[in-house]
Amino acid sequence: MKNVDYIIVGDGYAALFFAHQLIQNRKSFAIFSEGRKSASQVSAGIINPLVLKKFTTFWLAKEQIDFLHETLNEIEKYTGTNYLIEENIRRIFHDEQEKALWLSKCETEELKPFLNPDFETLETIRNPYGTGSVNKSARLNVDGFFRDFMSYFKENGLLVEEKFDYSLLTENAYKDFQFKNIVFCEGMGVKGNPYFSQIPVIPNKGHHIKVKLSERFTHQYTLKKKHFLFPLNDEIHYYGGTYDPNERPEEIDDFKTEELITGLSEFYPPEFQVEEVNFGFRPTVKDRRPILGNHAEHKNFYVYNGLGARGILNGCYFSKELYDHIENGKSLMPEVDLKRYNK
Ligand SMILES: Cc1cc2nc3c(=O)[nH]c(=O)nc-3n(C[C@H](O)[C@H](O)[C@H](O)COP(=O)(O)OP(=O)(O)OC[C@H]3O[C@@H](n4cnc5c(N)ncnc54)[C@H](O)[C@@H]3O)c2cc1C
Repeated sequence: MKNVDYIIVGDGYAALFFAHQLIQNRKSFAIFSEGRKSASQVSAGIINPLVLKKFTTFWLAKEQIDFLHETLNEIEKYTGTNYLIEENIRRIFHDEQEKALWLSKCETEELKPFLNPDFETLETIRNPYGTGSVNKSARLNVDGFFRDFMSYFKENGLLVEEKFDYSLLTENAYKDFQFKNIVFCEGMGVKGNPYFSQIPVIPNKGHHIKVKLSERFTHQYTLKKKHFLFPLNDEIHYYGGTYDPNERPEEIDDFKTEELITGLSEFYPPEFQVEEVNFGFRPTVKDRRPILGNHAEHKNFYVYNGLGARGILNGCYFSKELYDHIENGKSLMPEVDLKRYNK
Protein backbone atom coordinates (compact mmCIF):
# COMPACT_ATOMS: atom_id res chain seq x y z
CA MET A 1 0.00 0.00 0.00
CA LYS A 2 1.15 3.52 -0.79
CA ASN A 3 0.05 6.07 1.78
CA VAL A 4 -0.75 9.53 0.44
CA ASP A 5 -2.49 12.58 1.87
CA TYR A 6 -4.44 13.13 -1.36
CA ILE A 7 -5.58 11.55 -4.57
CA ILE A 8 -6.39 14.02 -7.34
CA VAL A 9 -8.52 12.80 -10.24
CA GLY A 10 -8.03 14.85 -13.43
CA ASP A 11 -5.26 16.85 -15.05
CA GLY A 12 -6.71 20.23 -16.10
CA TYR A 13 -6.39 23.63 -14.44
CA ALA A 14 -8.45 22.59 -11.39
CA ALA A 15 -6.21 19.57 -10.76
CA LEU A 16 -2.87 21.27 -11.44
CA PHE A 17 -3.53 24.37 -9.37
CA PHE A 18 -4.78 22.20 -6.52
CA ALA A 19 -1.66 20.02 -6.87
CA HIS A 20 0.38 23.20 -6.57
CA GLN A 21 -1.22 23.91 -3.19
CA LEU A 22 -0.23 20.41 -2.08
CA ILE A 23 3.35 20.88 -3.30
CA GLN A 24 3.58 24.24 -1.49
CA ASN A 25 2.34 22.65 1.72
CA ARG A 26 4.46 19.50 1.40
CA LYS A 27 1.51 17.13 1.22
CA SER A 28 1.92 13.79 -0.50
CA PHE A 29 -0.36 12.94 -3.40
CA ALA A 30 -1.02 10.90 -6.52
CA ILE A 31 -2.63 12.48 -9.57
CA PHE A 32 -4.67 10.46 -12.07
CA SER A 33 -4.59 11.43 -15.74
CA GLU A 34 -6.43 9.46 -18.39
CA GLY A 35 -4.25 11.09 -21.05
CA ARG A 36 -6.94 12.87 -23.04
CA LYS A 37 -6.55 16.43 -24.26
CA SER A 38 -8.39 18.39 -21.55
CA ALA A 39 -10.42 21.56 -22.14
CA SER A 40 -7.60 23.27 -20.26
CA GLN A 41 -5.02 22.09 -22.80
CA VAL A 42 -6.98 23.51 -25.74
CA SER A 43 -7.71 26.78 -23.93
CA ALA A 44 -6.30 30.05 -25.21
CA GLY A 45 -4.66 30.89 -21.91
CA ILE A 46 -6.14 34.38 -21.81
CA ILE A 47 -6.03 36.18 -18.47
CA ASN A 48 -8.53 38.98 -18.79
CA PRO A 49 -9.90 41.20 -16.02
CA LEU A 50 -12.81 42.31 -18.23
CA VAL A 51 -15.96 41.05 -19.85
CA LEU A 52 -15.15 42.44 -23.27
CA LYS A 53 -18.68 42.54 -24.65
CA LYS A 54 -19.83 45.06 -22.08
CA PHE A 55 -16.55 46.45 -20.74
CA THR A 56 -17.35 45.47 -17.20
CA THR A 57 -15.24 43.60 -14.71
CA PHE A 58 -16.24 40.49 -12.70
CA TRP A 59 -16.32 39.10 -9.19
CA LEU A 60 -12.89 39.18 -7.49
CA ALA A 61 -11.10 40.03 -10.76
CA LYS A 62 -8.26 42.01 -9.18
CA GLU A 63 -7.79 39.56 -6.29
CA GLN A 64 -7.71 36.66 -8.75
CA ILE A 65 -5.15 38.30 -11.01
CA ASP A 66 -2.88 39.24 -8.09
CA PHE A 67 -3.13 35.73 -6.70
CA LEU A 68 -2.34 34.18 -10.08
CA HIS A 69 0.86 36.26 -10.32
CA GLU A 70 1.91 35.10 -6.84
CA THR A 71 1.14 31.48 -7.69
CA LEU A 72 3.03 31.53 -10.98
CA ASN A 73 6.07 32.91 -9.13
CA GLU A 74 5.83 30.01 -6.67
CA ILE A 75 5.52 27.46 -9.48
CA GLU A 76 8.58 28.93 -11.20
CA LYS A 77 10.63 27.92 -8.15
CA TYR A 78 10.22 24.21 -8.93
CA THR A 79 9.63 24.08 -12.70
CA GLY A 80 12.19 26.78 -13.52
CA THR A 81 9.79 28.69 -15.80
CA ASN A 82 7.34 31.52 -15.39
CA TYR A 83 4.39 30.83 -17.68
CA LEU A 84 3.01 34.37 -17.64
CA ILE A 85 3.26 36.12 -21.01
CA GLU A 86 2.79 39.80 -20.33
CA GLU A 87 1.25 40.82 -23.63
CA ASN A 88 -1.90 42.90 -23.33
CA ILE A 89 -5.15 42.23 -25.13
CA ARG A 90 -6.00 44.83 -27.75
CA ARG A 91 -9.67 45.22 -28.48
CA ILE A 92 -10.39 45.93 -32.16
CA PHE A 93 -13.31 48.36 -31.95
CA HIS A 94 -16.43 47.50 -33.92
CA ASP A 95 -17.59 51.10 -34.32
CA GLU A 96 -17.48 54.63 -32.89
CA GLN A 97 -20.09 53.81 -30.23
CA GLU A 98 -17.95 51.05 -28.79
CA LYS A 99 -14.97 53.38 -28.63
CA ALA A 100 -17.10 56.02 -26.89
CA LEU A 101 -18.34 53.42 -24.40
CA TRP A 102 -14.73 52.42 -23.63
CA LEU A 103 -13.79 56.08 -23.02
CA SER A 104 -16.74 56.66 -20.72
CA LYS A 105 -15.89 53.49 -18.74
CA CYS A 106 -12.27 54.70 -18.41
CA GLU A 107 -13.64 57.44 -16.15
CA THR A 108 -15.16 55.02 -13.62
CA GLU A 109 -13.24 54.04 -10.47
CA GLU A 110 -13.94 50.34 -11.08
CA LEU A 111 -12.67 50.20 -14.65
CA LYS A 112 -9.97 52.87 -14.71
CA PRO A 113 -7.23 50.36 -13.76
CA PHE A 114 -8.10 48.10 -16.70
CA LEU A 115 -9.02 50.30 -19.67
CA ASN A 116 -6.25 52.23 -21.35
CA PRO A 117 -7.59 55.48 -22.87
CA ASP A 118 -4.79 55.76 -25.48
CA PHE A 119 -5.91 54.14 -28.71
CA GLU A 120 -3.70 52.78 -31.47
CA THR A 121 -4.36 51.95 -35.12
CA LEU A 122 -2.44 48.86 -36.19
CA GLU A 123 -0.93 47.90 -39.53
CA THR A 124 -1.83 44.74 -41.51
CA ILE A 125 -5.27 44.27 -39.92
CA ARG A 126 -8.57 45.96 -40.69
CA ASN A 127 -9.19 48.30 -37.75
CA PRO A 128 -10.86 51.50 -39.01
CA TYR A 129 -11.90 52.50 -35.48
CA GLY A 130 -8.54 51.61 -33.91
CA THR A 131 -7.76 49.39 -30.92
CA GLY A 132 -7.76 49.83 -27.15
CA SER A 133 -5.47 48.04 -24.72
CA VAL A 134 -6.65 46.14 -21.60
CA ASN A 135 -4.26 46.84 -18.74
CA LYS A 136 -3.38 43.89 -16.47
CA SER A 137 -4.40 41.40 -19.16
CA ALA A 138 -1.91 38.71 -20.11
CA ARG A 139 -1.63 35.13 -21.34
CA LEU A 140 -0.50 31.83 -19.93
CA ASN A 141 1.96 29.72 -21.88
CA VAL A 142 -0.52 26.84 -21.89
CA ASP A 143 1.65 24.22 -23.65
CA GLY A 144 4.65 24.93 -21.43
CA PHE A 145 2.52 24.89 -18.27
CA PHE A 146 1.05 21.45 -18.95
CA ARG A 147 4.23 19.92 -20.40
CA ASP A 148 6.36 20.97 -17.42
CA PHE A 149 3.81 20.06 -14.76
CA MET A 150 3.42 16.59 -16.27
CA SER A 151 7.21 16.15 -16.35
CA TYR A 152 7.44 17.29 -12.74
CA PHE A 153 4.76 14.78 -11.67
CA LYS A 154 6.48 11.99 -13.61
CA GLU A 155 9.94 12.74 -12.26
CA ASN A 156 8.59 12.78 -8.72
CA GLY A 157 6.55 9.59 -9.07
CA LEU A 158 3.25 11.43 -8.56
CA LEU A 159 1.53 10.65 -11.86
CA VAL A 160 -0.75 7.68 -12.43
CA GLU A 161 -1.46 7.48 -16.14
CA GLU A 162 -4.81 5.74 -16.16
CA LYS A 163 -8.52 6.43 -16.05
CA PHE A 164 -9.75 6.45 -12.47
CA ASP A 165 -12.23 3.61 -11.95
CA TYR A 166 -14.91 4.77 -9.49
CA SER A 167 -16.13 1.23 -8.84
CA LEU A 168 -12.84 0.40 -7.08
CA LEU A 169 -13.00 3.33 -4.65
CA THR A 170 -13.61 2.72 -0.95
CA GLU A 171 -13.66 5.19 1.96
CA ASN A 172 -9.87 5.57 2.21
CA ALA A 173 -8.41 3.31 -0.42
CA TYR A 174 -8.14 2.96 -4.18
CA LYS A 175 -6.24 0.01 -5.65
CA ASP A 176 -2.88 0.07 -3.85
CA PHE A 177 -3.31 3.63 -2.51
CA GLN A 178 -4.40 4.54 0.99
CA PHE A 179 -5.44 8.20 1.12
CA LYS A 180 -6.84 10.80 3.54
CA ASN A 181 -8.76 12.92 1.00
CA ILE A 182 -9.68 12.60 -2.65
CA VAL A 183 -10.35 15.63 -4.86
CA PHE A 184 -12.26 15.13 -8.09
CA CYS A 185 -11.23 17.64 -10.76
CA GLU A 186 -12.67 16.00 -13.87
CA GLY A 187 -14.22 18.93 -15.71
CA MET A 188 -17.18 17.58 -17.73
CA GLY A 189 -15.90 14.06 -16.93
CA VAL A 190 -17.67 14.52 -13.57
CA LYS A 191 -20.84 13.30 -15.26
CA GLY A 192 -19.38 9.79 -15.01
CA ASN A 193 -18.58 10.15 -11.30
CA PRO A 194 -21.27 8.41 -9.23
CA TYR A 195 -20.56 10.63 -6.20
CA PHE A 196 -20.87 14.00 -7.92
CA SER A 197 -22.58 13.39 -11.27
CA GLN A 198 -25.56 15.53 -10.14
CA ILE A 199 -23.62 18.79 -9.80
CA PRO A 200 -25.15 21.28 -12.25
CA VAL A 201 -22.28 21.78 -14.71
CA ILE A 202 -23.29 22.38 -18.31
CA PRO A 203 -20.89 21.71 -21.21
CA ASN A 204 -20.08 24.68 -23.41
CA LYS A 205 -18.15 23.45 -26.41
CA GLY A 206 -15.29 25.59 -27.68
CA HIS A 207 -13.18 25.28 -30.86
CA HIS A 208 -9.96 26.98 -31.84
CA ILE A 209 -7.88 26.93 -35.00
CA LYS A 210 -4.12 27.15 -35.36
CA VAL A 211 -3.17 29.15 -38.42
CA LYS A 212 -0.17 30.17 -40.51
CA LEU A 213 -0.51 33.85 -41.42
CA SER A 214 0.93 34.97 -44.76
CA GLU A 215 1.82 38.42 -43.37
CA ARG A 216 3.40 38.64 -39.95
CA PHE A 217 2.77 41.37 -37.39
CA THR A 218 5.46 43.62 -36.03
CA HIS A 219 3.77 43.54 -32.59
CA GLN A 220 3.07 40.70 -30.13
CA TYR A 221 -0.41 41.76 -29.02
CA THR A 222 -3.31 39.47 -28.33
CA LEU A 223 -5.93 40.84 -30.71
CA LYS A 224 -9.61 40.49 -29.88
CA LYS A 225 -12.52 41.05 -32.15
CA LYS A 226 -14.98 38.19 -32.05
CA HIS A 227 -12.27 35.80 -30.81
CA PHE A 228 -8.64 36.04 -29.71
CA LEU A 229 -5.66 35.96 -32.10
CA PHE A 230 -2.11 35.68 -30.77
CA PRO A 231 1.23 34.08 -31.70
CA LEU A 232 2.11 30.64 -30.32
CA ASN A 233 5.55 30.63 -31.94
CA ASP A 234 7.32 32.09 -35.01
CA GLU A 235 5.11 30.04 -37.35
CA ILE A 236 1.71 29.57 -35.80
CA HIS A 237 -1.06 31.76 -34.40
CA TYR A 238 -3.97 30.63 -32.21
CA TYR A 239 -7.46 31.90 -33.05
CA GLY A 240 -10.43 31.08 -30.83
CA GLY A 241 -12.37 30.00 -28.90
CA THR A 242 -15.95 29.69 -29.95
CA TYR A 243 -18.88 29.09 -27.61
CA ASP A 244 -21.69 26.58 -28.07
CA PRO A 245 -24.01 25.67 -25.17
CA ASN A 246 -25.92 23.07 -27.21
CA GLU A 247 -25.37 19.38 -26.69
CA ARG A 248 -22.71 18.30 -29.19
CA PRO A 249 -20.76 15.12 -29.97
CA GLU A 250 -17.06 14.64 -29.23
CA GLU A 251 -15.88 15.61 -32.70
CA ILE A 252 -14.98 18.72 -34.65
CA ASP A 253 -18.03 20.70 -35.79
CA ASP A 254 -17.21 21.94 -39.30
CA PHE A 255 -19.59 24.88 -38.98
CA LYS A 256 -17.54 26.13 -36.03
CA THR A 257 -14.31 25.91 -38.05
CA GLU A 258 -16.08 27.99 -40.72
CA GLU A 259 -17.19 30.48 -38.09
CA LEU A 260 -13.58 30.89 -37.01
CA ILE A 261 -12.29 31.28 -40.58
CA THR A 262 -14.93 33.95 -41.27
CA GLY A 263 -14.21 35.71 -37.98
CA LEU A 264 -10.49 35.92 -38.71
CA SER A 265 -10.98 36.99 -42.35
CA GLU A 266 -13.09 39.93 -41.18
CA PHE A 267 -10.11 41.72 -39.66
CA TYR A 268 -7.13 39.91 -41.24
CA PRO A 269 -7.38 40.43 -45.04
CA PRO A 270 -4.13 38.66 -46.11
CA GLU A 271 -4.23 34.91 -46.74
CA PHE A 272 -3.88 32.36 -43.95
CA GLN A 273 -3.82 28.60 -43.73
CA VAL A 274 -5.57 26.47 -41.10
CA GLU A 275 -3.06 23.95 -39.70
CA GLU A 276 -5.06 22.43 -36.85
CA VAL A 277 -8.54 22.47 -35.27
CA ASN A 278 -9.21 21.51 -31.65
CA PHE A 279 -12.19 21.54 -29.34
CA GLY A 280 -13.00 21.09 -25.66
CA PHE A 281 -15.95 21.33 -23.28
CA ARG A 282 -15.94 24.10 -20.67
CA PRO A 283 -17.66 23.04 -17.43
CA THR A 284 -19.99 26.02 -16.96
CA VAL A 285 -22.46 26.82 -14.20
CA LYS A 286 -25.59 28.98 -14.47
CA ASP A 287 -24.53 31.35 -11.70
CA ARG A 288 -21.00 31.55 -13.19
CA ARG A 289 -19.36 30.44 -9.94
CA PRO A 290 -17.14 27.38 -9.44
CA ILE A 291 -18.39 24.46 -7.37
CA LEU A 292 -16.34 23.31 -4.36
CA GLY A 293 -17.22 21.07 -1.47
CA ASN A 294 -17.45 17.58 -0.09
CA HIS A 295 -19.88 14.72 -0.43
CA ALA A 296 -22.72 14.63 2.12
CA GLU A 297 -21.87 11.08 3.28
CA HIS A 298 -18.28 10.56 2.19
CA LYS A 299 -16.79 13.56 3.96
CA ASN A 300 -13.27 13.10 2.57
CA PHE A 301 -14.50 13.06 -1.07
CA TYR A 302 -14.26 16.57 -2.57
CA VAL A 303 -15.28 18.07 -5.88
CA TYR A 304 -13.56 21.00 -7.60
CA ASN A 305 -15.36 21.97 -10.79
CA GLY A 306 -17.39 24.61 -12.65
CA LEU A 307 -14.45 26.76 -13.72
CA GLY A 308 -16.42 27.92 -16.78
CA ALA A 309 -14.74 30.24 -19.27
CA ARG A 310 -12.15 31.38 -16.72
CA GLY A 311 -10.29 28.19 -15.97
CA ILE A 312 -7.03 29.90 -15.17
CA LEU A 313 -8.20 32.64 -12.81
CA ASN A 314 -10.91 30.56 -11.14
CA GLY A 315 -8.75 27.43 -11.06
CA CYS A 316 -5.84 29.20 -9.41
CA TYR A 317 -7.76 31.28 -6.88
CA PHE A 318 -10.20 28.68 -5.62
CA SER A 319 -7.60 25.94 -5.27
CA LYS A 320 -6.32 27.81 -2.21
CA GLU A 321 -9.88 28.28 -0.92
CA LEU A 322 -10.44 24.55 -1.17
CA TYR A 323 -7.07 23.68 0.37
CA ASP A 324 -7.64 26.03 3.33
CA HIS A 325 -11.10 24.63 3.78
CA ILE A 326 -9.89 21.02 3.92
CA GLU A 327 -6.72 21.52 5.92
CA ASN A 328 -7.47 24.57 8.05
CA GLY A 329 -11.22 24.42 8.47
CA LYS A 330 -11.77 27.73 6.67
CA SER A 331 -15.40 28.14 5.58
CA LEU A 332 -16.00 28.10 1.86
CA MET A 333 -17.37 31.27 0.35
CA PRO A 334 -21.15 30.68 0.07
CA GLU A 335 -21.04 31.74 -3.61
CA VAL A 336 -18.87 28.73 -4.54
CA ASP A 337 -19.95 26.23 -1.88
CA LEU A 338 -21.53 23.05 -3.24
CA LYS A 339 -24.07 23.44 -0.40
CA ARG A 340 -25.74 26.34 -2.24
CA TYR A 341 -27.66 23.65 -4.15
CA ASN A 342 -29.09 22.12 -0.98
CA LYS A 343 -31.46 25.01 -0.33
C1 LIG B 1 -11.54 26.56 -26.82
C2 LIG B 1 -11.45 26.96 -25.38
C3 LIG B 1 -10.77 28.12 -25.06
C4 LIG B 1 -10.67 28.50 -23.72
N1 LIG B 1 -9.93 29.62 -23.40
C5 LIG B 1 -9.74 29.98 -22.11
C6 LIG B 1 -8.91 31.08 -21.79
O1 LIG B 1 -8.37 31.73 -22.66
N2 LIG B 1 -8.74 31.39 -20.47
C7 LIG B 1 -9.31 30.66 -19.46
O2 LIG B 1 -9.10 30.99 -18.28
N3 LIG B 1 -10.11 29.59 -19.75
C8 LIG B 1 -10.34 29.24 -21.04
N4 LIG B 1 -11.14 28.16 -21.35
C9 LIG B 1 -11.88 27.50 -20.25
C10 LIG B 1 -11.02 26.49 -19.53
O3 LIG B 1 -10.38 25.70 -20.46
C11 LIG B 1 -11.87 25.64 -18.58
O4 LIG B 1 -12.43 26.43 -17.59
C12 LIG B 1 -10.98 24.60 -17.89
O5 LIG B 1 -10.36 23.83 -18.86
C13 LIG B 1 -11.70 23.70 -16.92
O6 LIG B 1 -10.70 22.99 -16.26
P1 LIG B 1 -10.95 21.65 -15.46
O7 LIG B 1 -9.66 21.27 -14.85
O8 LIG B 1 -12.13 21.83 -14.56
O9 LIG B 1 -11.42 20.59 -16.57
P2 LIG B 1 -10.63 19.94 -17.82
O10 LIG B 1 -9.65 20.88 -18.40
O11 LIG B 1 -11.66 19.39 -18.73
O12 LIG B 1 -9.78 18.76 -17.17
C14 LIG B 1 -10.39 17.63 -16.63
C15 LIG B 1 -9.50 16.44 -16.92
O13 LIG B 1 -9.87 15.35 -16.08
C16 LIG B 1 -9.72 14.17 -16.83
N5 LIG B 1 -10.57 13.12 -16.24
C17 LIG B 1 -11.92 13.11 -16.17
N6 LIG B 1 -12.35 11.97 -15.62
C18 LIG B 1 -11.24 11.23 -15.33
C19 LIG B 1 -11.02 9.94 -14.74
N7 LIG B 1 -12.05 9.16 -14.35
N8 LIG B 1 -9.75 9.49 -14.61
C20 LIG B 1 -8.69 10.26 -15.00
N9 LIG B 1 -8.85 11.49 -15.57
C21 LIG B 1 -10.10 11.97 -15.71
C22 LIG B 1 -10.16 14.55 -18.23
O14 LIG B 1 -9.61 13.66 -19.19
C23 LIG B 1 -9.59 15.95 -18.36
O15 LIG B 1 -8.30 15.88 -18.94
C24 LIG B 1 -11.27 27.74 -22.68
C25 LIG B 1 -11.95 26.56 -23.02
C26 LIG B 1 -12.05 26.17 -24.36
C27 LIG B 1 -12.77 24.91 -24.68
